[in-house]
This record gives sequence, C-alpha cells and structure tokens, in this order.
Amino acid sequence: MASTVRTKARPTINEFDLIRDLQRRHGRHAPSVIQGIGDDAAVITSRAGEWAVLTTDLLTEGVHFDLGTATMADIGFRAATANLSDVAAMGGTPQYLLVALAIPRTGTNRHVHQLYRGMMAACRPHRVQLIGGDTSASDGGWFLSVTLIGMVPPRKALFRHGARTGDFLYVTGTLGDSLAGLKLLNEPPGRTKHDPWAATFSPRHRKFLIERHLRPIARIAEGRWLSAHHFATSAIDISDGLSGDLRHICEESHVGAEIDLSALPLSPACRAYAASRKRDPLNLALTGGEDYELLFTVAPRQRPRLERMALEQEFSLTCIGNIHPHRFGMQALSPHGQRHRLINTSYEHFT
Ligand code: ADP
Ligand code: MG
Repeated sequence: MASTVRTKARPTINEFDLIRDLQRRHGRHAPSVIQGIGDDAAVITSRAGEWAVLTTDLLTEGVHFDLGTATMADIGFRAATANLSDVAAMGGTPQYLLVALAIPRTGTNRHVHQLYRGMMAACRPHRVQLIGGDTSASDGGWFLSVTLIGMVPPRKALFRHGARTGDFLYVTGTLGDSLAGLKLLNEPPGRTKHDPWAATFSPRHRKFLIERHLRPIARIAEGRWLSAHHFATSAIDISDGLSGDLRHICEESHVGAEIDLSALPLSPACRAYAASRKRDPLNLALTGGEDYELLFTVAPRQRPRLERMALEQEFSLTCIGNIHPHRFGMQALSPHGQRHRLINTSYEHFT
C-alpha cells in the first residue's frame, strides 16, 4: 500500500529507494524462494508434507524497547530472536523473514539499515532469508513487526499441551540473566564507578549480563533436537518469565507442577550481580522474561537417553521439577525445604 505512505514529507527517506536498498543488501535467497522482495507477495516451496510454523511479533518504541539503552541493531537482533525462539519452541527450523516497519519523523536510512543489520545478524547463523515486508511512516515512535516462517517434519511439532503427570520439567541454559542485564542498563550512571562490590561483580560479569539482554540467542538447535528425538512431551520458550510460561504449559496440558528452586540454573554473573545488589537471584530467575531459554517436559522413561545425548551434544539442560496432577496447582520447593504456591509475578515474599 505504497500510495498511503507519506514519505514525501520526510526528505531523508524515500520508500522505494529504501526497499531497493534492503533488497540489494539482504534479499539474496536460496532456490526454495521462488520470489522474494519485489513482487506483491513472496513465493516459497517446501518439501511435500512438511508443516509450516508461523509466528509474528510487534514491537513498539517505549513499550518494548528504549532507544536510550539499546541501539537500532540491538533492537533488530532482539526482535528477530523473539521470533526465532518461538519457532525453536515448536521444534521447527526457521527459514523466512518478513518485516513491517513504521518509521518516525526522526528516523533515517541509517537507522533502518542498523536495524536490519541486527536482525540479519540474529538470522544469519540459521540461514533465515528476508523475503518481504512493508514500510510506512509513523506519527509516533518506531513500530517493528517481524514475521517468521519455519518448517517442521509432520507430527514433530512441540506444543504447550502434552505434559503428563510424572514428567520431568527441564530448562535450557541459565535463567535471570536478561533481567539482570536490563536492570544494569537502567541503573543510574556513576553506580558502577563507586561500586563497593566491584571485586566480586566484575566488568566481565556486567558485559555478560548486558549481552544476554541485548543479544539473546534462540535455542534453535536444542528445539530441533528435542523434536527429532521425541524427547519433549511439551515445550515453550521463556519470554515472559519462568513462572508465567510454566503456567501456560500447565493450563494447556491441564496439569500442575512443582519447581525445585535450589535446582534453577543461575550463571556465575547473575549470582554475582544479585549478591552485589542484595537481590534474590531466584527471584530474577523466576520472574525474568526474555531469557529465550526453552522450558519443556520429558517422560520418565526418556530421561536417561535425554541426559546422555545432551552431554554428547554439549547442550546445557537442567531438571528443575516435576509435573503433577492439575489439582496440585503450581508450587515451588524453597531451598529451605518449604513448599509455597508459585505465583505469577514475584517470589519476593518467600524470602
Ligand atoms: P505493496 O504495495 O504490494 O505492499 P510494497 O511497495 O509495499 O508493495 O513492497 C514492495 C516489495 O518490497 C514487496 O516484495 C515487499 O514485500 C517488500 N518490502 C516492503 N517493505 C519492506 C521492508 N521494510 N522490508 C523488507 N521488504 C519490504
Ligand atoms: Mg506494502
């Protein structure tokens, strides 16, 4: 709908030149793309019988990102990861990207190219190809909508439903890092300079946590592996926080769950951050969103094979609890051995 875009009022950006530029920079594609950028719609082929996995995310300036603490490239990277991670959680292989963009009056070509640089940096390792999008002016801030198309072999998709009583609950990687990174970015300047804990919380920790927030990695290989070997009875990616995302699995599978808080995987950086700021690292792990780790359930008889093969693959997996009947609800076993109801937003009151 190019005719409705008021690009003429903004001399720095010409929509058609911009699209041509994006096509030249990012529009190269594999034989499975019959038609990429440049027609009314993209056309792709896929192997007969494969299931398509489709996901889209809308990011709004001021709501989902803040240009004060993230660059355009960071924002692009995170937007792509959010979608890649959704495909990972379905056990799929991401393949194609569509990007819709509303550019504010202050936006320049440079901003757009930085945004795409970040997006494509997240996509490149997975050979995801940009096949289309849409461009508009915005009277407010930036709007970025990313759509990702992936494929999964028939009947191999992982769903939120499918968890059964007795299954074990697993998570990839470590939790809470992204939230710690975000909190670091939002601390007033000066804070690090006079940090009395600088000896334990090092600049290396700081860099690690901020990187985990600004450049999160989607667990594509792990998701495909879980799906290929039928390891997971259900799966979700952790985008809203462990307790909230576990709730989705419980509701969709009509089960309850118990998390053993002492088992939650924490990075040394997250522990050091929490100690230095007198925060409970378990609270970061339970409530922190945007870790983009996978949360999944495994039937007891699959467990030995899962653990053995994960070691071989050098995948980092941690068993953090069990699935119970629905009436059990969601509970957390504290490091002191007490059981608490797991509530969605916070765990602060346990301590
Ligand atoms: P239409 O009027 O059919 O929507 P456009 O002029 O908006 O066509 O788009 C022309 C081509 O450029 C299409 O292939 C579209 O998918 C692609 N395109 C438009 N904007 C973007 C964008 N921001 N990123 C990637 N591709 C884009
Ligand atoms: Mg258009």
